[in-house]
Amino acid sequence: MRAGKRDIIIRAFGTPMTIEGLSSSPSDEGSQEFDVLIIGAGPAGLSAGIYARRAGLSCAILEKGVPGGQVLTSPMIENYPGFAEVPGMKLMDQMAEHAKRYADIREGEEVVRVRSGERFEVSTHSAKYHSRAIILATGSTHRKLGVKGEEGMVGRGVSYCATCDGFFYKNRKVIVVGGGNTALTDALYLHSIECDITIVHRRDSFRADKHLQDSVAERGIPVLFDNVVEEIVGDGEVTSVKLRNLKTGAVEAKPINGVFVAVGEVPSNQLAAELGLTLDQSGFVVVDKTFRTNVPFVYAAGDVSGGIRQIVAAVHGGAAAALSCFEDLANPYYRRT
Ligand code: NAP
Repeated sequence: MRAGKRDIIIRAFGTPMTIEGLSSSPSDEGSQEFDVLIIGAGPAGLSAGIYARRAGLSCAILEKGVPGGQVLTSPMIENYPGFAEVPGMKLMDQMAEHAKRYADIREGEEVVRVRSGERFEVSTHSAKYHSRAIILATGSTHRKLGVKGEEGMVGRGVSYCATCDGFFYKNRKVIVVGGGNTALTDALYLHSIECDITIVHRRDSFRADKHLQDSVAERGIPVLFDNVVEEIVGDGEVTSVKLRNLKTGAVEAKPINGVFVAVGEVPSNQLAAELGLTLDQSGFVVVDKTFRTNVPFVYAAGDVSGGIRQIVAAVHGGAAAALSCFEDLANPYYRRT
């Protein structure tokens, strides 16, 4: 069934309320037309789906893989309120199940093109969708070190995901590169599964949370401060890295089996660029405090819009973007002058 123009009923806490002019409501498996299309099913996209649908907007979440985003690779989350300790995969499974009560999540639907016009036209490899608004929640990808040997040995000793690949390095020598929350979380995880782990960081102090720094120190995980990886060496598989000490200039070969790279994120902003969204110097989508972008009816939330890259912030951004979208599409009574 295709969605058509008609009044929709919004049930807020059981009280029906009619709003004119929105296209038909419930997410419909077969439909390709929605009030809003949400691109990306990480915490921001899932939260946007819940809020959009509860506001009465028909919506679909298009996800190129499976719902959950990068949090799926976090071994343990300890700072999402209500969950003192929860594996990233479990948290995201629960969030996705919750979102599925409301939004139509279409997995394996990678958006390859977005066009604006009277309606937005969104193309995936297998389908074409139309909508009146778009919420971009495309997240970010792992930053690469950009050193010799890295690209050729991805999957053969070079990894960007400790939870995914750590198991293969039990009792083997590995390094984690980076000094942020991801690097230290990964190091703690790899240590817990009995990898022989050393952290390599380019400065003389970490930017990671104090709590994580303390945990690393308590476990006696070795750290090479003021060091950068200059080259990853191997013949089919990683066998060593060349490390340069930035204080002394000395270059030393360190025999290892694995390199876990955790040096930050780059925004997945290709669709944002196609839509003509303003990006900041680092490539993040510029949004105002309501998560509106410079293009009407386009909103961005989560890691693609920068800011504090935390699950709780992404969840907030998704919700706020959906509510802004509702305001713009429905022009509700409380905004009329
Ligand atoms: P990040 O905070 O941006 O840290 C990146 C680290 O990599 C920094 O220590 C940086 O060094 C280093 N680095 C950057 N480029 C490098 C290069 N080319 N060579 C060597 N080192 C390089 O990234 P992140 O740790 O992935 O975290 C991203 C966001 O997610 C953050 O906001 C973080 O708080 C959040 N996060 C939160 C949790 C949690 O709360 N449980 C877990 C993971 C991530 P400098 O310090 O010298 O710049």
